[in-house]
Amino acid sequence: MRVPQTGSFIDETRIAEALGAAADKDAARVRDVLAKARELEGLEMEDVAVLSSVSDPELLGELFGTARDVKDAIYGARLVLFAPLYVSNLCTNDCLYCAFRVRNKELKRRALTQKEIRREVEILVDQGHKRVLLVAGESYPGQGFRYVLDSVATIYDVKRDNGEIRRINVNVAPLTVDEFRALKATGIGTYQLFQETYHRETYAAVHVGGKKRDYDWRVTAMHRAMEAGIDDVGIGVLFGLFDWRFEVLALMQHIRELERAYGVGPHTISMPRLEPAIGSDIAHEPPFPVDDVDFRKLVAILRLAVPYTGMIMSTRETPNIRRETFALGVSQISAGSRTNPGGYVEDEQFDEAQFQLGDHRALDEVIRDVAELGYIPSFCTACYRLGRTGMDFMDLAKPGDIKHHCDPNALSTFLEYLLDYGSEETRAVGEPLIARTTAEMDPVRRAHTEKMLAQVRAGKRDVLC
Ligand code: SAM
Ligand code: SF4
Repeated sequence: MRVPQTGSFIDETRIAEALGAAADKDAARVRDVLAKARELEGLEMEDVAVLSSVSDPELLGELFGTARDVKDAIYGARLVLFAPLYVSNLCTNDCLYCAFRVRNKELKRRALTQKEIRREVEILVDQGHKRVLLVAGESYPGQGFRYVLDSVATIYDVKRDNGEIRRINVNVAPLTVDEFRALKATGIGTYQLFQETYHRETYAAVHVGGKKRDYDWRVTAMHRAMEAGIDDVGIGVLFGLFDWRFEVLALMQHIRELERAYGVGPHTISMPRLEPAIGSDIAHEPPFPVDDVDFRKLVAILRLAVPYTGMIMSTRETPNIRRETFALGVSQISAGSRTNPGGYVEDEQFDEAQFQLGDHRALDEVIRDVAELGYIPSFCTACYRLGRTGMDFMDLAKPGDIKHHCDPNALSTFLEYLLDYGSEETRAVGEPLIARTTAEMDPVRRAHTEKMLAQVRAGKRDVLC
């Protein structure tokens, strides 16, 4: 068993030393690190420390420029879209930043029934979504953890005309290995869990009640998930609780530990910033606020440090920040989100929601905006459904081969969206983008892509490559 009992792989002393040593590094050392990043092999923790100390505007410009080039080389112009699905806001924990915390009496509690979940999914499918992220507080109604398993089955079961959810990712509290096995058996894609903060003292100060107080149980959750055969795991930090530089280095330690133990790191990284939440003082005044420049910096640094790991940006952020970070490294975004259970049927209810959203636009509007910026909105779920997960995915991703699958799949799923759900205005932006992107491909890939697009136009759906 490769699951450690504690999170001793997060070494706070080493992080402090690396940050201290990096503080007085000159421009030449920064440029060495950027040159290394251009080789697309990733960076070590010490390199990351050097980049996180950059403040000179010229070097900052070089950092952003390098991140843009790396993002472009690996991901091209694709952006994968998903919607969160909050099934329950019941919770027995007391995380000071979250509206769902047990002591928050201002929140209306609600766990959706399977029938209500079905209705939510129908709405998402009718909007054009193909991926959802199931989210719940740490307390399940009635049948306990089975509620999560049943919810996954309900979501996959919804079929509407040409639409269905093809990949469910899950963000629920840490599980035992056996529970993870049961979750894997339902056919989930990524298991996602954020450590919130890797800094033990801060962790203890903001998690004041319930099971979540146990730092070690949480930080070893990804080991248990991988032990249970879940290849794709997603890690993250809730930025604003502690110094972002420390957190980014700790993320590196977590990633290297998973690579050491299982031969593959996380599939995705999320970097939520603390947003206002009802019943939470600290969510309104983060102890370590991350301003927009530092936020862009941390996105760029992570892109260079782990170039093949997907990066997720949620609707917590405003449209402007989202646009800027697409260029620097973000590869997946949520759109049209609600964070209150039942929010797609009943719209946003702040007294049931987890936190305030920064981007309130509908999916079609987000897609149009993204396409106008030259990005290809993708609903692709091919890798996971063709078994390209974990190490297999990374083997393919590292030499850059994944692009040959992703581009045609992104275009064919985008075309599906435009034909089945897109508004006239979005189609007017999307069709020329598809034509332009296809025309720029090499002849072999272009022929292959055109064949896939023709199949979609002829009425075939879910054309995978
Ligand atoms: N209850 C599970 C847990 O805590 O891991 C899973 C669901 S929880 C609703 C999902 C994530 O929401 C948390 O991991 C946390 O990072 C994030 N979150 C909580 N409060 C937030 C806030 N005020 N602003 C932004 N994100 C928040
Ligand atoms: Fe519960 Fe998760 Fe919110 Fe903490 S972050 S109160 S565990 S829902």
